[in-house]
Amino acid sequence: MSGRRVLVVGACGRMGEQVRKWVREHDELVVAAALEAEGHPLQGEEIESGVILSSDPKAALLDVDVAIDFTIPRATIETMRAAAHAGVAYVTGTTGLSGDEKAEVAALAKRIPVVHAANFSVSVNVLGWLAREAARKLGDGFDAELFEIHHAAKRDAPSGTALFLAEAVAEGQGKTLADHLVVERVGETGARPNGAIGIQTLRGGDNPGEHTLYFVGVGERIELVHRSATRDHFAKGAVRTAAWLVGRGPGLYPIDEVYGLA
Ligand code: NAD
Repeated sequence: MSGRRVLVVGACGRMGEQVRKWVREHDELVVAAALEAEGHPLQGEEIESGVILSSDPKAALLDVDVAIDFTIPRATIETMRAAAHAGVAYVTGTTGLSGDEKAEVAALAKRIPVVHAANFSVSVNVLGWLAREAARKLGDGFDAELFEIHHAAKRDAPSGTALFLAEAVAEGQGKTLADHLVVERVGETGARPNGAIGIQTLRGGDNPGEHTLYFVGVGERIELVHRSATRDHFAKGAVRTAAWLVGRGPGLYPIDEVYGLA
């Protein structure tokens, strides 16, 4: 076995399966270890050539260069703590982290190189740039609203990508998202607050993710849309990021730096 050694965290999840596939396709990377939740039915099985599925982060991190993690916030924080102890680079796309959990990611990134991105698709990150620039150019006359739909099993709402796009709009408009975000409208809401940034969430079926950003003006509107038909582009991006991250110094690297979009 040669190449940079990758630990896949959440190895049997929807994204974990895709990450393993794209690591197998990569010339410089190899799947060397795999973690899943305790009690997972495949625990102890050989899920890749020479790789036994485990639930012990400490053991799984012993002989790897980089971890790629798509799980749940609690698992991400626990595994990243162990990676910081072991000196292993960390790529994660887990969404739904609380403010405290994000602060812990930033603290752990003082000890190891980390990329945490709500969306590893190159085109969604370009869409973030478009959202920021459109908001900047359009100014006050256009109301920003987002729509997102994902598969029925998604655990967090709104999606990390919708929040990422809303953040880009807020930046373009020169304001703080937390002061303007509206994620629920029900009953006597009154008129739309000036400068609100709205997100509406739909869940159903097996949709891997769809986002539409509307800038609604008077008598006209712009719609910026991204539709995912598969999860390949997320996994491929995370694998590309892992290859980029290995060998770098500690720090929390933004995804647009990885993709040369900064
Ligand atoms: P999933 O439920 O299919 O997979 C998550 C896996 O993590 C499961 O197999 C689960 O058993 C495993 N897991 C839970 N606890 C664990 C632990 N302690 N240790 C190891 N593994 C553990 O979910 P998914 O659709 O693959 O999504 C996972 C995360 O990735 C979500 O937060 C989702 O929003 C996010 N996501 C991000 C991107 C992106 O580009 N950043 C793209 C798609 C999904």
